[in-house]
Amino acid sequence: MKIFCVGRNYAEHAKELQNEIPSSPVIFMKPHTALLSDGKDFYYPNFTNDLHYECEIVLRICKNGKAISEKFASTYYDAITLGIDFTARDLQQHQKEKGLPWEIAKAFDHSAVIGNWKTISNEEKAKPLLFKLDKNGETVQNGNTADLMYSFEKIIAYISSFFTLNMGDIIFTGTPQGVGPVKIGDQLSATLFDEELLNFSIK
Ligand code: ZN
Repeated sequence: MKIFCVGRNYAEHAKELQNEIPSSPVIFMKPHTALLSDGKDFYYPNFTNDLHYECEIVLRICKNGKAISEKFASTYYDAITLGIDFTARDLQQHQKEKGLPWEIAKAFDHSAVIGNWKTISNEEKAKPLLFKLDKNGETVQNGNTADLMYSFEKIIAYISSFFTLNMGDIIFTGTPQGVGPVKIGDQLSATLFDEELLNFSIK
């Protein structure tokens, strides 16, 4: 399976990191060894001193396709969850300044945390999704997919113009504003509308 991620997909988040608003989606990938699921503990890695959470809606691809048109793209995912695109912000900043690839900052082991999958109907796909992330019981991020710069359909169409999508691939769709650091002992939980889909600890 492949893990795709979209960067800078909410304008307010791009601004908080002083990034330009992109003219096409910013896509990067993580290896399958980045995945962490089932509420397992996340262990703070020793190569960073500034690990940030980025809470995102994650799509599950349900059939194979390439060069998918935007019109049919919504039929290529059947479930969603909430996930954390963990980012070693100090390493990422260094890589960005030097114009170097940022995999060491974003694609390391367990940097892609996902919650429980929830199947999604066509009616639900047509409506904005509201989600939030709590850190130690306090809300730190609020997201609304109405604010996405590139819709799920546009993202699927764009990614599949370069990479064949396979059943079981997943796509992190970008984070809203409010990203910030975690430390050992923190508890992260994320809810879609009022349903908790993700809950784990930093050890
Ligand atoms: Zn992200």
